[in-house]
Amino acid sequence: MPMDTSVYESPYSDPEELKNKKLFLKRENLLMADIELGCGNFGSVRQGVYRMRKKQIDVAIKVLKQSTEKADKDEMMREAQIMHQLDNPYIVRLIGVCQAEALMLVMEMAGGGPLHKFLAGRKEEIPVSNVAELLHQVSMGMKYLEEKNFVHRDLAARNVLLVNRHYAKISDFGLSKALGADDSYYTARSAGKWPLKWYAPECINFRKFSSRSDVWSYGVTMWEAFSYGQKPYKAGKMKGPEVMAFIEQGKRMECPPECPPEMYKLMSDCWTYKWEDRPDFAAVEQRMRTYYYSLASKAEEPGACANGVEAACP
Ligand code: AMP
Repeated sequence: MPMDTSVYESPYSDPEELKNKKLFLKRENLLMADIELGCGNFGSVRQGVYRMRKKQIDVAIKVLKQSTEKADKDEMMREAQIMHQLDNPYIVRLIGVCQAEALMLVMEMAGGGPLHKFLAGRKEEIPVSNVAELLHQVSMGMKYLEEKNFVHRDLAARNVLLVNRHYAKISDFGLSKALGADDSYYTARSAGKWPLKWYAPECINFRKFSSRSDVWSYGVTMWEAFSYGQKPYKAGKMKGPEVMAFIEQGKRMECPPECPPEMYKLMSDCWTYKWEDRPDFAAVEQRMRTYYYSLASKAEEPGACANGVEAACP
């Protein structure tokens, strides 16, 4: 269960630890191991340990490449500023930033790797209920972001990291924005290196990003998960402009073979063309919860083995 892990609550939920909470961390309290957890645009992500007042916690450290320009440093700091404002069990928390031999973003550890890699080739082993469970957690994290008026702008299975097979957290806030109190969307000044296959039509056509455009990306993330880690749009063979034309023609990806009809209906609703007509995350989370709990309760019926819910399936 997520609540039985050390990363369910913030390490600062203890008032004693909270006294020391600062954005900038002291290098002497950070131990970096020679283990690479992954790499991204900025450089590598290394495993480490951060020493707090009363305990030590496992951390993932995003280390900015030495040769990078000031603009990259600023971008990493913007990511840190966003993450620093968030505190939810289904979102990777920022512990702090450390400026020493390099600029480092210190995050709580989600060591199970990205969702698409975890699911790839494991149809037999991971039941649909487990996929629904993880996607429900992602919807809870996104509902929290929606309530706080943040847009993620890069929700995809590659940016959902697992703590374990029953616990997922949303990561990578490199493109995220905090919306103004009276704004429901963010308009990008110009188009950038964007994950077009995950983007809603209004993002591409008008550079307009909102929680509803994150809902579209959530639909693509659902498709990736229920297809057990396949690449969207013809195994990734379709290019961005082709995908845009496909969407404009009113076409959508087909239901993955293992995907339950209720879940395909929800992902199709996430791909409603007009953002005003799309469900918000409050509605998405409720539908995910209802579906996941219905599987769980079916599994509890005597002799049942509904959709491979583990509790009932030996
Ligand atoms: P990113 O630069 O955020 O896309 O991260 C690149 C890779 O580093 C991810 O795909 C993960 O494999 C790994 N990684 C990033 N953040 C974490 C984390 N908090 N815990 C564990 N691994 C992480």
